[in-house]
Amino acid sequence: MTYSIKHLANKFNPLSLLLPSHCLVCGKNTDGENICNNCKEKIKYLEYPLIEHKKNIYFYAITEYKGIMEKSIKILKFRKRKIITKDLANIIIDFVSKEKIQFTHIGFVPMTHPETRERGFNQTYLLAKEVSKTNKIPILNGLKKTKETKKQVGLSKRERKENLKNAFKMTDKIEGNVMIIDDVYTTGNTATEITKTIARKTKSNIYFIALSRKIN
Ligand SMILES: [Zn+2]
Repeated sequence: MTYSIKHLANKFNPLSLLLPSHCLVCGKNTDGENICNNCKEKIKYLEYPLIEHKKNIYFYAITEYKGIMEKSIKILKFRKRKIITKDLANIIIDFVSKEKIQFTHIGFVPMTHPETRERGFNQTYLLAKEVSKTNKIPILNGLKKTKETKKQVGLSKRERKENLKNAFKMTDKIEGNVMIIDDVYTTGNTATEITKTIARKTKSNIYFIALSRKIN
């Protein structure tokens, strides 16, 4: 019994009744959302979310990485306000339902242990966990990053490709479609490497879905 009381105490934060919620992007008061409606309306959705489609592999990006989206993702990654995850995950949940994407596994872009230690968490895992909870789809845990890589920023096109080559490994058995969630799509090297790794294990569809895309 003590466990369940402790569990409840952890879940219930009486301060949440006293402190008004506010938008983490602009600071305006809200009814509990962490991104206000005014900011949400300014999010730039991509007219053509499908980036690439080859055989059973699809790459998508939902929004453009600028303005509100860039700020919101930075609030999660660098200011480490994990509370904004749900608001961001809802963008993915709505997109997947609108596009009628069917999947039986949900994965994320893995990081190595030192990378996770440096940030304290993996934001793509947090996003995947929210989608998993809402859509009641299990998380794919067998996708791992086994190679330490350099930061992609500042590398040439060839170096970036080489850097991520054979960086991922997949140990889970897969039956059915897989969806992998990323936060920001830039060159597509991560998407290519990860989907290539998964494609060795399945002939079913693989959807690589990025919340946002950096467009030059
Ligand atoms: Zn706002």
